[in-house]
Amino acid sequence: TFISFEGPDGAGKTSALQAITAEIAPALGDRLTITREPGGNPISESIRSIILDRANTAMDYRTEALLYAAARRQHLAQTILPALAADKLVLCDRYVDSSVAYQGAGREIGEAAVAKMNEFATDGLLPELTIYFDVPAVVGLRRIQAHRDPTKVDRLDVEQTAFHDRVRAAYLKLQAAHPDRIKLIDATQDPATVVAQSLALIKQTAPA
Ligand code: C5P
Ligand code: MG
Repeated sequence: TFISFEGPDGAGKTSALQAITAEIAPALGDRLTITREPGGNPISESIRSIILDRANTAMDYRTEALLYAAARRQHLAQTILPALAADKLVLCDRYVDSSVAYQGAGREIGEAAVAKMNEFATDGLLPELTIYFDVPAVVGLRRIQAHRDPTKVDRLDVEQTAFHDRVRAAYLKLQAAHPDRIKLIDATQDPATVVAQSLALIKQTAPA
């Protein structure tokens, strides 16, 4: 069973995934694969370092989208597909929807174009369940800022907010278009509730 986790920055995806893993790992043992993209293998990690290298300020947005798709393909081929073939439960931190939201809408190169490119990269393989942690852009950004420097919580960059508003809007559109696959969780709720709701969805999709 393939399950992805999605959400804008500051939605609490990473910490929720840690709590979820702690909860289900003991019973599943080696039948559980927790992974994140871009990365997870030497080729994808190399691509990731190119994407994240702050020195690469000249990187064109389509180049960035292609690199994410290339890293995704390799991660799929080398990690996800073998795990699924071995009948494992795969929990993946970000997948195609991230690219549609961040590159397609955030970077404004077009959601449909990015979706089409990723259909090629993944051969159309989508998760059975996508858990989308929804949080308004401003709330997510404030959480990140508060985490980094509590004195700067009221100084939000307008451009940054607009980018993250587009990302969130794209996620909401994806959820509305694919309600059977993408389940929304209100990530402004307390962390324990978010984790409990996630576990309930996982159990529905992958009964132990
Ligand atoms: O998942 P995580 O929050 O660690 O993602 C790190 C960053 O990578 C995000 O803040 C997002 O801005 C960026 N990202 C992106 N496009 C993707 C996936 C992630 O811009 N497809
Ligand atoms: Mg994170």
